[in-house]
Parts: sequence; structure tokens; C-alpha cells
Amino acid sequence: MRLAHDFDPRYKAEFVKKKDSVELLEIGVSILADYQARLAAQDTHGVLVCLQALDAGGKDGTIRHVMSGVNPQGVRVWSFKVPSTQELNHDFLWRYACRLPERGEIAIFNRSHYEEVLVVRVHPENLERQHLPEKAKGKGVWERRYRAINDWERYLNENGIRVVKLFLNMSKEEQRRRFLARIDEADKNWKFSANDVRERRYWDDYQLAFSEMLSATSTEWAPWYVIPADRKWFARVAVSAVLAQSLIEIDPQYPTLGADARRELLAAKSELETEAPKTVEPDPVAAHRPHRANAKLR
Ligand code: AMP
Ligand code: MG
Repeated sequence: MRLAHDFDPRYKAEFVKKKDSVELLEIGVSILADYQARLAAQDTHGVLVCLQALDAGGKDGTIRHVMSGVNPQGVRVWSFKVPSTQELNHDFLWRYACRLPERGEIAIFNRSHYEEVLVVRVHPENLERQHLPEKAKGKGVWERRYRAINDWERYLNENGIRVVKLFLNMSKEEQRRRFLARIDEADKNWKFSANDVRERRYWDDYQLAFSEMLSATSTEWAPWYVIPADRKWFARVAVSAVLAQSLIEIDPQYPTLGADARRELLAAKSELETEAPKTVEPDPVAAHRPHRANAKLR
């Protein structure tokens, strides 16, 4: 595929209106919160969310809005920057593998292993810093990396780690506007880096690197979602929908107790009831919420 040809950054679905987007996002957030709790309770699957975009594409804002309702204990966000000396001394997937989600957890990669075929490709001096043998960095390096990434993601998928890949697709004009907002509005100045404008000069190289990467790594077990990102409200609703759908497909369930565990529970209940002070019912919880407490124990 070719990005500019196949995907419109300004696309918005007819059935999603801006005035409804706040409410839609709230629904998405509550679905995510519910499913994240089940994911943690079941403790079998992990979810790895890979978020890619060019500078000012909206990665941070998307994370903030879409994950706003979930229990912070169940989610970890990792931002990948220029690799450290230690990281450069390892194979190229190492630093990402170190931060994979545990079972029951959602990990968000703010930038991900895909940088290894994006920024590293657009600026080949990054490849030079990776201490690679001649053969490894020679002809076909990107195809080999695509293959390694696909194999790794297939392995993760087969081991219960669901990989959800989101590309926030923003137009060049929208990036120009967002950079200008970062310059013109004092409280956004901190977000602006002169380097961002230098990177912008490589726009076409990035579009090509993204197009080839998306073509080569959108697989049955880990498809890419290209999110139209010129409208932040639409991008957030779309991301929230994709994440909710992924969790719905995993369909995590609260564990149910076996006969032994249930007997243990009832034994503990009688022990606690015998400790009740004289003036209090043996089980005040059941007394005040008889329906729920008993329903749980049966
Ligand atoms: P930011 O996301 O704005 O904090 O910037 C992080 C910077 O780290 C970006 O300029 C990325 O291009 C850069 N970066 C991320 N991953 C890599 C990598 N694997 N190799 C080289 N640079 C990277
Ligand atoms: Mg930046």
C-alpha cells in the first residue's frame, strides 16, 4: 500500500459525529476499564499496544484520553527514545522484549520496535551505531527485520500476548499547524523541539518507510490499524474502539471457584461469624445486602 494513496488522514465516519465524540469516548473508556479488570483477574492474556506516529501525531494525548478510566495497576506505558549505550549493545528487539506486558497486563509502547524500521531506516547512521556484523546490516536488512518482527509477534500471539498496532496517520499540513500551535501557545512551548522541524524535512522518506513497513508487517496475527488522525476527537474514538474490540475478542472471564476453594471460603465465613460481637449480626454484610452476598457464595 501507499499511505498517501490509500489512506485519508482527514477521514471521519458518517456515523460518528464530533458532538457525540465525548460520550462515545466515555463508553469506550468504561468498556476498557471493565475488560481490563477481567484481563487482570483471569491472568492468562497480556495486551501489547504499539502506538506509532510522526511528531505531533497525537500519541501522548491518545494515551491520556483513551486510558483515562483504567486501573493504573493494570497498565504500563513505555516511551522509547534514542537507544542507550546498553541497548545498542543488544540485538535490536531486546529493549522491547524487556518491557513486554505480563499476563493480565496491558502495556502501551509509545513508539515501539517499529522505530527500528522507521527512524533507523530514514537515518541509516542509527544502524551504524548498532554494532552489527557486516552481514546483518548489509543488503536486505529491512526485509530481514520485517521477517524478524513478524516472527516475534507470531510467537507472542501464540503465547497469549495480543499485539495491537496503531498508526496515527496525520497529514503534512496538520503537522505544520500543530507545530505552529506549539510555538505560538506558551503552555505548549515545552512540547516543541527544533529537531521536530528538521525531521519534518524527511516527510517523504518517512511516508515511504511507513508505507513499506505497513505493507510488510500487517499480518493475520497482528494487523495494523491506520487511524485517521487529523481530527483528534475522531482518532481517540477510533483508537478506543479498536482497543475495546481487541479485549472483547480476548473475552477474559473472572475465574470461578472450584469446590475446594468454595468450601474454604465457607469455612472462613463461619470462623469470622463466630467472632462477631454480641450486639452485631454474625454477618452484617449479608444482613444488609442479603441478595448480593448470598448470590456470591452459592
Ligand atoms: P519523543 O517521542 O518526541 O520523546 O522523541 C523520541 C525520539 O527518539 C524520536 O526522535 C525518535 O526518532 C527517537 N527514537 C526512538 N526510537 C529510536 C531508535 N530505535 N533509534 C533511534 N532513534 C529512536
Ligand atoms: Mg517529540
